[in-house]
Amino acid sequence: MLSLFLSLLAITCFGLETYEDYSVVRFHEMSDESVAFLEAEDLDVWQTNKLEGWADVMIHRDQLEKYLNLYPAYKVVYENVQEEVNRSLEENEKARLASVGKPFAFDHFPTPAEVRAYMTQTANDYPNLVTTINIGNSYGGNPIGGLRLNSGSPNAPRFILQCTIHAREWITTTTCAYIIDQLLTVDTNLLQYYNWIIIPVLNVDGYAYSHSSSRLWRKNRQPGSSCVGTDLNRNYGQGWGGGGSSPDSCSETYRGTSAFSGPEVARERDYIQNLNIAAFVDIHAYGGLFMSPWGYTSAYPPAADYNEMDRLMTASCNSIRGVNGASYAYGSSYHTIYQASGGSNDWTYGYLGVVPSFCIECRGTTFTAPISQITPIGREVYAGIRTLALQVYANYQQ
Ligand SMILES: [Zn+2]
Repeated sequence: MLSLFLSLLAITCFGLETYEDYSVVRFHEMSDESVAFLEAEDLDVWQTNKLEGWADVMIHRDQLEKYLNLYPAYKVVYENVQEEVNRSLEENEKARLASVGKPFAFDHFPTPAEVRAYMTQTANDYPNLVTTINIGNSYGGNPIGGLRLNSGSPNAPRFILQCTIHAREWITTTTCAYIIDQLLTVDTNLLQYYNWIIIPVLNVDGYAYSHSSSRLWRKNRQPGSSCVGTDLNRNYGQGWGGGGSSPDSCSETYRGTSAFSGPEVARERDYIQNLNIAAFVDIHAYGGLFMSPWGYTSAYPPAADYNEMDRLMTASCNSIRGVNGASYAYGSSYHTIYQASGGSNDWTYGYLGVVPSFCIECRGTTFTAPISQITPIGREVYAGIRTLALQVYANYQQ
């Protein structure tokens, strides 16, 4: 009965956009040029890993043969992407329905309304530690909310964490919430050291769309010349317009008409650019990576800065490994995940001078992570953030 109910739910609620005709393939032995070629073909490149030389790509059935012939070292990840989407949505909806009326307990991926309720409830539960913030409105006019956590000086430096700049990376939303939870219930000393600014969903329009209409939506919902959506993590000002970003509005890596043409990142820029920032971390999924600038160029930051970035990444990744044994690879974005221009942490480092500016890709093999991974991923990423916060604070004391 439950399965009948869930399949009816799947038909009525889910999959307004269907991925029946799409497969996901992992191509191996991929050069920089091959990855750039696939991106230029307007394919949806789910994830890349330059250290291991692979790229996961979603391809329509009619084009599959062409690309499999071009890059014969491949493995099919999902023959029919919709089957995987249905599996994950059904699992999630069942868990969500079982949790209605209870406090959020990291047992499902929350709807946009549930994220807002979680933030309001957390601020109500911890009135002396937590303040809700609103950095401004999205393209669609929706407030971009977050929480500020602090128990020390209101002038303490900011530790900025943002999640879900890419709409479909749902496990990042829960990871930001998990970090909030741990800071408030376990490591409350860290609230004295910093003003934590935590934004669980930066791309609020895209996130809502990934729930209502198109599970694998990545960009914001701003119309371009031919297609909808700017890739907000190609829209920041540092190196904007360079390689690993597209001028084509139909591309999944469309960079927008100019730096900060995406209202969501423009509002973020306005909100943070005059703050005293100790650290900035942008959390993505998937693949298990911890990355520093630069993403837009193969050059490394000056040695004094990069040595510090490397030291912090080493310490954080050691802590991550200590939780579940997962090894996150680390290094500069360009050399870790392939070139990407106009990314968030290139800008916070390049324009704002924040040396601890990182981008994390949560561990996993898909955007449709099972709900059983919400807590393990939250725990390990939190361990990395905790170590980063302690190390950066120790620097302040010197
Ligand atoms: Zn991402």
